[in-house]
Amino acid sequence: MSNVVLEKVGRNFGEFAAVSEVDLRVNEGEFVTLLGPSGCGKTTTLRMVAGLEQNTAGRISIDNEVVSDAARGIFVPSERRRLGMVFQSYAIWPHMTVFENVAYPLRVRRRPAAEIRELVSKTLSLVEMEGLADRPAPALSGGQQQRVAIARALVFEPKVLLLDEPLSNLDAKLRLQMGDEFRAIQRRLGMTTLYVTHDQSEAMALSDRVVVMDRGRIQQVGAPEEIYRYPTNRTVAAFFGTPNLLDAEVEACARIDARRVRLEVVGQGWRGPCEAADEVQPGQTVTVMVRPEDARIASAGSGVSEQELKWSGRIAQTIFRGPNRSIVIETGNGLFNIDAPAFGNYSVGDNVSVIVAQQAAWAVPSQ
Ligand code: ATP
Repeated sequence: MSNVVLEKVGRNFGEFAAVSEVDLRVNEGEFVTLLGPSGCGKTTTLRMVAGLEQNTAGRISIDNEVVSDAARGIFVPSERRRLGMVFQSYAIWPHMTVFENVAYPLRVRRRPAAEIRELVSKTLSLVEMEGLADRPAPALSGGQQQRVAIARALVFEPKVLLLDEPLSNLDAKLRLQMGDEFRAIQRRLGMTTLYVTHDQSEAMALSDRVVVMDRGRIQQVGAPEEIYRYPTNRTVAAFFGTPNLLDAEVEACARIDARRVRLEVVGQGWRGPCEAADEVQPGQTVTVMVRPEDARIASAGSGVSEQELKWSGRIAQTIFRGPNRSIVIETGNGLFNIDAPAFGNYSVGDNVSVIVAQQAAWAVPSQ
């Protein structure tokens, strides 16, 4: 098993810095996802690890061996890095059977026929495709083609698996199912994996750690729950879902532990404590994040406990989404989004209270 280390990695295209100062360590057996909006530099980062793109700054190591170092002029070509790759247009070859598609990387490497047979059948059973070895590739469903692409990437026992939006050609249901299956295979093999997606829920569901990128730079690296609940800046907070981002002024700040401070703030129609990662001086403005699923609706004028924050407002919109209902509340200080139970009794125009537990509020520096 191998690790992947990027140190101050950058890639310029002429004057344009597509990727800057990327420091990242993917541990052995770990599943790490590069996530961010279109154009943020995730594909370029993956391609530099793959050796399909040369970094113009910094150093990349795989399995403790430097494969690219801009300063020292080292560049190990892609085919000598022993990487398995699955890309968006995973292009399994239509004129070949499933067996021949998976065998291809071994044939290129001139492995003996008996070894090819054994490795291909082992890999096909890993992705539960052993019964379909003789099937021509065009006679496969999208999900089955996907599994063939994964098998083909795994068959020569690569050190690291690199995937760029491998599920994006599938419909929503199959994407979910294939994602879960792929995660199970990756866990079983303990394969070090670097994955690229712009789909936040896919990144959350699959990864041990998520790397949020924006404009060529890493914004935050952490476990999915950590990034979702404790973003360190407004860009990361806003990237996941549709959080309520409320301005508030800091009145006091005290350290809780190495990773959190407690703030007393006065905000838009409310006052109360919330937590943040960094110390903030009294008088400064912060953005308090409240996720729509952490807010509930109560009747107008309801009392709240000391552990809760409250706003008064009026229902402006309700949208039925199946498992829940999105409700927009107009408060004196702007709109508030809430995910409410699907079958509650809400009507546009109702006067209501919005209630949020204090520990569900988290502050980030206002940019
Ligand atoms: P997407 O999700 O749309 O694929 P991405 O986050 O993977 O986006 P990249 O493909 O890494 O983004 O591109 C990052 C930036 O670098 C973009 O602005 C892109 O236009 C630019 N870029 C990528 N490749 C080249 C190139 N060969 N020449 C010039 N600019 C490039």
